[in-house]
Amino acid sequence: MRIRTNDVVEVITGDEKGSRGKVLRVDLSGGKVVVEGVNKVWKHVHRSQKNPQGGRLSKEMPIAVSNVLLVCTACNRPARIGVRILADGSKARICKKCKAEI
Ligand SMILES: [Zn+2]
Repeated sequence: MRIRTNDVVEVITGDEKGSRGKVLRVDLSGGKVVVEGVNKVWKHVHRSQKNPQGGRLSKEMPIAVSNVLLVCTACNRPARIGVRILADGSKARICKKCKAEI
């Protein structure tokens, strides 16, 4: 999994192909991500102490990580990600198109 919270990703397949958003949550075990503004559903909530009004709540549902690509901050395109090992042994993610570190 090369996508982290707060990355900007683009949906590359499905109904919302082409939409971009920030990653709100990453579910490592399920291979899913929650992307801001993508795959929103209306959740109907009953009255409770937390929601005294009840009603409808808009909520993003997780989508498969294979349906999104990280958007490169340097070339502003959805990009496949490579990994470069730095001199100190740590890893950096790089855009396969422009080779910039992300
Ligand atoms: Zn790039």
